[in-house]
Amino acid sequence: MELANRTELLGMDLKSLESYMQSLGEPRYRANQIFAWIYRKAVGSFYEMSDIPKELRLRLDAAAQVSIPRVLKQRVSADGTRKFLFEMNDKKRIEAVVIPQSRDKHTRYSLCISTQVGCPLGCLFCATGQSGFQRNLQTYEMVGQVLGSRREMTRKLKTDDQDLITNVVYMGMGEPMLNYDAVISSIRALNDHKGINIGQRHITISTAGEVQGIRRLAEEGLQVTLAISLHACNDELRDRLIPLNRKYPLQAVVEAVDHYTTRTNRRVTFEYIMLDDVNTSPEDARAMIALIKPLLANVNLIPYNEVSGLEYKKPSSARIRRFYNLLADAGLNVTLREEHGGDIEAACGQLSTARER
Ligand code: SAH
Ligand code: SF4
Repeated sequence: MELANRTELLGMDLKSLESYMQSLGEPRYRANQIFAWIYRKAVGSFYEMSDIPKELRLRLDAAAQVSIPRVLKQRVSADGTRKFLFEMNDKKRIEAVVIPQSRDKHTRYSLCISTQVGCPLGCLFCATGQSGFQRNLQTYEMVGQVLGSRREMTRKLKTDDQDLITNVVYMGMGEPMLNYDAVISSIRALNDHKGINIGQRHITISTAGEVQGIRRLAEEGLQVTLAISLHACNDELRDRLIPLNRKYPLQAVVEAVDHYTTRTNRRVTFEYIMLDDVNTSPEDARAMIALIKPLLANVNLIPYNEVSGLEYKKPSSARIRRFYNLLADAGLNVTLREEHGGDIEAACGQLSTARER
């Protein structure tokens, strides 16, 4: 049972855990042991921490908790993508998606995590945006999605390989830049080489174009990948699809990206969902070329994943190809994203716990 006044240990770095153990009158090395149980073994129950004296386990159980979330439900797609529904301590539910990177025996996995319960930005094409906003997730709840998913995967695959998740993308439910501090501290926790050990270059953070967050990220000294959800190259259309564009129009986003690439020397990825009859005409391609060509950036085209109840459609393969070719022929660095988990509503923008209740 979780009690509100217990200290949450998940998300703490080794130093904080050392101070905590000292506050209990315990030697510092206990922190190393507990740190390894939490992050290397994904163990959240003090009773299972077998190298800790029983008396201390009891004391810890009364004073602290490690809230690795429980998987309430999971769905597996034909392509191996798995969607987990997690329940937080306050019973709020969020989703994370595990995507296999290949199909061989040594497959590594990429994990897409949520940053908020719902999302306040209300993009018109997005299932999460249409389901409203409830609250920000805390650092431990983001780190917990990684440990909870990893624990489930190692059990399923009957392996003790604790490094099977190699990439984490902040592209699940919510807008990471509106939960900036918790997102950054979760990145630092995931990156700790003594703990979960996910390389900064294997972490991607995606934003709808929250300019203040982009500018702050430029100063963090992190080597993560920044992805910007573009989806339209004129303000009139972008205002409609992504209401945040009315606050931060394209010019402001482009300036922030330019500043970011200058400060970090890191390439940015522009994501562009293709919506039939909305944003995939030759004129849209020309506008994108003019906008992106001067920037240090890649473009990732994502065929829209249809959401029941929303009017948007995915274009035909011929249209997708034509749009791709126009961009590639103009010399843009462009890739076409394969769809993962479309059959279980685990694809980008299909995450909404509304229909899981
Ligand atoms: N809020 C952030 C990150 C979460 S959304 C953002 O908007 O970037 C992750 C990505 O999924 C974004 O690029 C978003 O535009 C895209 N997306 C949303 N709904 C989608 C859908 N139905 N099909 C494909 N991509 C979608
Ligand atoms: Fe929020 Fe991103 Fe969905 Fe827009 S696309 S509503 S910012 S989660």
